[in-house]
Amino acid sequence: MKKFDVPVFYRSPLITAIKNKRKTDDKLKKDFSPTFLDFGKLQIFLARHFGFCYGVENAIDISFKTIEENPGNKIYLLSEMIHNPQVNNDLKKRGVEFLMDTKGKSIIPFKQLEPGDIVVVPAFGTTLQIEQQLADAGVEIAQYNTTCPFVQKVWNRAQAIAKNNYSVIVHGKPQHEETRATFSHSAINAPTVVVRDMNEAMELASYIAGNKKPADFYEEFKGQYSEGFNVETDLERIGVVNQTTMLASDTQAISEYLKEVMKQKYNLTDSNVEDHFADTRDTLCYATNDNQGAVYALLETPADLAIVVGGYNSSNTSHLVELCEEKLPTYFIRSEEEIVSSKQINHFKIGSKEEVTTLSYLPEKKPAKILLTSGASCPDALVEGVIQKLISFYNCDKTIDDLIDEFTSEPQEANNAALQNSIQQ
Ligand code: SF4
Repeated sequence: MKKFDVPVFYRSPLITAIKNKRKTDDKLKKDFSPTFLDFGKLQIFLARHFGFCYGVENAIDISFKTIEENPGNKIYLLSEMIHNPQVNNDLKKRGVEFLMDTKGKSIIPFKQLEPGDIVVVPAFGTTLQIEQQLADAGVEIAQYNTTCPFVQKVWNRAQAIAKNNYSVIVHGKPQHEETRATFSHSAINAPTVVVRDMNEAMELASYIAGNKKPADFYEEFKGQYSEGFNVETDLERIGVVNQTTMLASDTQAISEYLKEVMKQKYNLTDSNVEDHFADTRDTLCYATNDNQGAVYALLETPADLAIVVGGYNSSNTSHLVELCEEKLPTYFIRSEEEIVSSKQINHFKIGSKEEVTTLSYLPEKKPAKILLTSGASCPDALVEGVIQKLISFYNCDKTIDDLIDEFTSEPQEANNAALQNSIQQ
């Protein structure tokens, strides 16, 4: 994969040593078992895959280069470049201003833009309408467009579905930047509707089956369907694409469910289901698949708690939290600063969308066993910060430097053997 120039302060010597070691020992990415960090009284199990993905590194590389190469120019970001507060603040500190918030609400009106101003398009991509507004303002975005190729792939898939006369169902969060962009790119080619989750897929199925009044659709799915959408004719042939960072199991369940609905409605079998349902695979990106797969493997290790590091509005990180929460106490934190002490942690609850404080979150027993991972927009330096903070509570003999030495010299088999040993204890 292409290498990007990411500022060194986002990197971590420890995590880099671990990732390099794992990559060398497992070139085909078949081993999803966690990396075992044994500090004696504290044992940390680090997910096999986490942290900056291709699209995020690409966006960071372009943004920082743009700042460096254009001193004196006005540089704007359309909205948050990625869903990580530290990265966005670092860009702001270097003079970059944001035109919109994450919901698309204007912060700086486009009419203030002048020809020659630079506008960086974030990794999520943007809508055709916004592209047009920027072009009208004389702003050229091609050079500063950091839209992730895996998002572009979803747009291409939607286009292919549309070409075969199917309507497009987008499984995504309707307000998320990426889903708004995908919706816009899909809607110029085909009738398009967004479903947030299985509940909404089931409501949509009621209209397909004719169990609900067509007129109600327009209120129920307000803001989620394309202009001119005809609920009575535009749901006869459908195909599903999804936001790249959804939960894989949710997307698969929704796609399978809608396929069954079409089979029943039109009395189809597997051999002719394509008459009404486009045969497509999900459009989750490789990072979503790797990170979620790594969390499933991580959860096979018995542990006292899990810590997930990332921005609180990060979709891919929230799904990792959801997976962990099903199994054990889970703390979703932005950085090590949320770990106030060995007795107190501040963390985000995705259900109620609020920050809460938990006391006595670390177990009394030794060794404490902690699962650790982070989202695709989280710098590795933050994960190392969390490890540093945790080991400071345990009077550990081993240091981060000792671990770096281990991972630059020890064969992975030794780590795997230690991991198995710890699981069996
Ligand atoms: S999470 Fe996936 S789609 Fe999103 S920026 Fe990263 S690689 Fe691209």
